[in-house]
Amino acid sequence: MRLVMLALIATGLVAQALAGEPAEVSERARKIHDAGLLFDGHNDLPYRLRKAGDMAFSKIDISKRLSDGHTDIPRLREGGVKAQFWSVYVPSEQKNPARTVTEQIDLVYRMIEKYPDVFELAISADDVERIAKAGKIASLIGIEGGVAIENDLAQLRAFATLGARYMTLTHNDNLDWADAATDAPAHDGLTPFGERVVKEMNRLGMLVDISHVSPATMADALRVSKAPVIASHSNAYAIAAHVRNVPDNILKGVKQNGGVVMINFSSGFVHPGLAKTIMTARKELRATHPDAESFGKAMEAWYKEHKELPHGTISDVADHIDHIKNLIGIDHIGLGADYDGVTSLPVGLDDVSTYPRLTDELLRRGYSESDIHKILGGNVLRAFRKAGEIAKTLQKTTAPEVDQPAKEVDKH
Ligand SMILES: [Zn+2]
Repeated sequence: MRLVMLALIATGLVAQALAGEPAEVSERARKIHDAGLLFDGHNDLPYRLRKAGDMAFSKIDISKRLSDGHTDIPRLREGGVKAQFWSVYVPSEQKNPARTVTEQIDLVYRMIEKYPDVFELAISADDVERIAKAGKIASLIGIEGGVAIENDLAQLRAFATLGARYMTLTHNDNLDWADAATDAPAHDGLTPFGERVVKEMNRLGMLVDISHVSPATMADALRVSKAPVIASHSNAYAIAAHVRNVPDNILKGVKQNGGVVMINFSSGFVHPGLAKTIMTARKELRATHPDAESFGKAMEAWYKEHKELPHGTISDVADHIDHIKNLIGIDHIGLGADYDGVTSLPVGLDDVSTYPRLTDELLRRGYSESDIHKILGGNVLRAFRKAGEIAKTLQKTTAPEVDQPAKEVDKH
């Protein structure tokens, strides 16, 4: 009888797996997950709202469970999200990037205003802990794409004053002062101005984010930064050879720097075979479409033609975590799932409600409760706190980076 029951249970699990539905989260995993402080590094809800044309939260009510997208309040609660870096993203080719980013920051402020019982702005590590303790979601602002500062350190400071606490140095394309991973190398990393941007970010307590940048830019950022850096949504290149994932030699630098690589859930960056397929397509299309705009369109068309690409799995995501842990230790791993910023997610990690499933997988792989708590948010909180402390010291000892206008100042 027992054997029959076991067989039935096993069959049920197989059926569940075949249907692509992961098993339910164990009670132990749920408990451990809820006892931690899940602090995710990258969520693109603000850009999704912008694209939907709902900058005023008049059409989309995120207090209700939505049938589309990856993020809303009920699902954030189910996923146990306690702190979130909301991405205020700007495409590289955007006209008026500083204004666009300001609008996206404004949108985050108005989200907090509209749902004051759920969200509260956090600008320090102490804020994060206090807000999470009060049962709210600590809401931080992360700028994705250094194009936002329009080559102007005063603009960088203005964003810091508005509460921005990280900046991804580039998005997909090179800037005047930094190379991106997905563009042809132009500066061999950071230019002297790019180095000044990093120094000023240190002084402002803004985390330097090395997601999306080329390995040479990553290395330069690690060399110049006095504070821990983060990769707000990146994976291990050794596991999935996508050019925007972090190579092993850089991971070793992240360890020395005290930084954190926060794992992206996007199928194309976690699944080894898919990453390879995408990189091959990129190379071929790059050769025939040398300019950025036509290449972008060709890649978009490629994705449309290749609808049957495989999805990653929870196990793929955990493989990236295992690799980083084995190479540089448990203290340098976080999560930056990139919800609402990606189209294909691993089976079972479909939206922000699903993080506990990853906790369950890590438990099955032998991670301890304290290991899991570090991955969920402890590590990034440590790096963020340290960056804040270093900023306080630098503000006392270092003058701000100021440029004189290139031309004669306007006379009134
Ligand atoms: Zn991104």
